Amino acid sequence: MAARPMPYLDDLNPEQRRAVETLDGPVLMLAGAGTGKTKALTTRIVHLLNTARARPNEILAVTFTNKAAREMKERVARMLGQPVEGMPWLGTFHSVCVKLLRRHAELVGLKSNFTILDTDDQIRLLKQLIKAEQIDDKRWPARQLAGVIDSWKNRAFTPANVPTSDAGAYNYRGVDLYAQYQARLKELNAVDFGDLLLHVVTIFQTHSDVLEQYQRWFRYVMVDEYQDTNVAQYLWLRLLAGGHKNICCVGDDDQSIYGWRGAEVGNILRFEKDFPGAHVVRLEQNYRSTPHILAAASGVIAGNSDRLGKTLWTEAEDGEQVRLIGHWDGEEEARWIGEEIDALQRGTRGQRPVSLDEMAILVRASHQMRAFEDRFLTIGLPYRVIGGPRFYERLEIRDAMAYFRVVTSPEDDLAFERIVNTPKRGLGDKAQQTIQMTARAHGVSLLEGARIAVQDGAIKGKGGAALRRLVEDLTRWNGMTRGPVVQIDEDAVLDDGGPPQVRFGEPEISHVELAQILLDESGYTGHWQNDKTPEAPGRLENLKELVNQLDNFENLQGFLEHVSLIMDNEQSDDGAKVSIMTLHAAKGLEFPAVFLPGWEDGLFPSQRSMDETGLKGLEEERRLAYVGITRAEEICTISFAANRRVFGQWQNALPSRFIDELPEAHVDVLTPPGLYGSGGGYGDSGGLEARVSEANVYNSPGWKRLQARQGQRGMAQPKEARNSVIDLKAVSSFMVGERVFHQKFGYGEVVDIEGDKAEVNFEKAGVKKVVSKFLSAKDD
Ligand code: ATP
Ligand code: MG
Repeated sequence: MAARPMPYLDDLNPEQRRAVETLDGPVLMLAGAGTGKTKALTTRIVHLLNTARARPNEILAVTFTNKAAREMKERVARMLGQPVEGMPWLGTFHSVCVKLLRRHAELVGLKSNFTILDTDDQIRLLKQLIKAEQIDDKRWPARQLAGVIDSWKNRAFTPANVPTSDAGAYNYRGVDLYAQYQARLKELNAVDFGDLLLHVVTIFQTHSDVLEQYQRWFRYVMVDEYQDTNVAQYLWLRLLAGGHKNICCVGDDDQSIYGWRGAEVGNILRFEKDFPGAHVVRLEQNYRSTPHILAAASGVIAGNSDRLGKTLWTEAEDGEQVRLIGHWDGEEEARWIGEEIDALQRGTRGQRPVSLDEMAILVRASHQMRAFEDRFLTIGLPYRVIGGPRFYERLEIRDAMAYFRVVTSPEDDLAFERIVNTPKRGLGDKAQQTIQMTARAHGVSLLEGARIAVQDGAIKGKGGAALRRLVEDLTRWNGMTRGPVVQIDEDAVLDDGGPPQVRFGEPEISHVELAQILLDESGYTGHWQNDKTPEAPGRLENLKELVNQLDNFENLQGFLEHVSLIMDNEQSDDGAKVSIMTLHAAKGLEFPAVFLPGWEDGLFPSQRSMDETGLKGLEEERRLAYVGITRAEEICTISFAANRRVFGQWQNALPSRFIDELPEAHVDVLTPPGLYGSGGGYGDSGGLEARVSEANVYNSPGWKRLQARQGQRGMAQPKEARNSVIDLKAVSSFMVGERVFHQKFGYGEVVDIEGDKAEVNFEKAGVKKVVSKFLSAKDD
């Protein structure tokens, strides 16, 4: 064969080169983060093309995200020095399967123009079936059934081969309803997401001619992030590679983070059994991170028992230790990170200036993004959210804010339109048209139009009754935004002849409480609580986060103004930006500077993983920590907050147990800014807040352990340590024995204080525990 230049091979180490040049037969590349697995895989594609072993359309290469697929195509093109013509089979599992299924839809009783249902459609369909079976869907929600069916599809079970051990699912009706659901989908010429793989696997299993055709066609099969494949994906791969066995799987068991979606690390172990004689390549040199970062990551992952185990080394220079810092709360954390980013960008910390594109903030839960987005919008720091919309653009946040808007400005028609049938109140297009027409005919807002339509009986039935309730509720809630009328200013009438000036007293409940009432009583919170899709818990957390931050504003109006101002700050698409994304979305990516905020027990590791019996959940969280740290090339900063607000109330948080697992020699514990007068630009956080902050941060057990390990390192002891993490307002306002007043319960005496709550012996109402901020001091 005429020797073509292969400069791309020179960029590889001997092991990588072996993986690239071993083109025939099964290859398993099992190696830690940043060892060049993805690089080797892309080079392998280039090598196949360059040596004419395969044409572009004869290579099947799958990854998990569209971003990863796109990057792979770009890297191949760069190495080849020319654009890649037609690599139709390089993509995500789902994109490849859609193509295959369109070609052979008729083999599973579908037409090639089948539609792909989204989760909402899927649930609607299941609800119909459940209803027809007269099952109580309050006890047995459709979402639950959807989850069960999904897990079967992940494991490649058709209704006919669900194992008997699963017969009890969904009150023993699961299997039957699964069969009905599949039949109904067929009638509708539709598939759900899980079907894309399942149908293709079924076609391959039942039509050997079709399978053989593809086995010949795809001469080389490759998979990145192999540790996250589920059983259906594994079977699919095994079938396709079953003939020639030219399959190369690349992965890292320590980075398996999709167990909750049915991924099975066991697939790695099965590989060598299913493909005997597989060539196993181990890569140990890490090209991404500094030794400190690598050692920190290795230290954490060593806490897992369920691993294949491997060592990593690097030739890189030592660099900086992993930086660790504790903050008073999430807002302060966001503020500090904003300033750090600025310092890195300017190079004022003594290292090269780092571009915004080279920095990322990786969060455990998407609701954490809100604090960063708010802060960055306020200081004008460009950012992008990867893998999802920005916080205030999220569906549930926009819905919730529409409620706030209608209640604070009843003539806000756009907001009214958004909420009138959200959650579903049985108001169809026709009813909504009636409201519109009535409003227009009377020249009033939609809310007023709705009121008139209800009074006139223009909207009948269930929808009419629901609308009446909504109009009444909105009026009532609107009344809650202010207190009772306390004074009519007679002089004002005389001055300008206008209407008398009405003054209202203080509202009886805080706007934070009102927001919660709005979301709960409107049925909006319940709507997501009943929703059993994987996104629902995240949406509920985002709603909590929204309510949390209301405390920073005087009232709902002030908050809405803030949001409209910052959202107006439209960002251009070009220019460097900091990336914000979840740890899950960061898989496979790398950045010179990485921030890992929110390392607190209950957030990271998640509460759910901590509540679980057994270690499975916790080990998956630990792998996520490993993924996070190993995204960093030069600078890795981990942070935690001593307090997080939940539903507008402070909750103290303990530093993550993973922080304890960081090997001390590789960690630099930073002093929280502004505490000792030296300040990192925190002129405004002195005084009591700083002292309480100091007390809280330093009193947390995790911090004490850290401090002990670090030695004193010149850090001052907190001047005024308190025994527990307590709400600032509670600390500053009330003491045991103090006489207080509560809007609802009247006068009383504080008998105990616990966190942000006070136990008060009320003169009329007796002893009650109340939230301190609704008390006022009375010394008469
Ligand atoms: P992850 O497990 O996080 O997906 P990975 O094993 O896929 O990591 P890559 O992303 O392929 O690692 O490579 C990590 C970094 O190391 C990349 O910047 C890559 O260009 C570089 N790299 C990989 N191999 C080499 C090599 N032989 N020489 C120099 N740099 C390399
Ligand atoms: Mg990779």
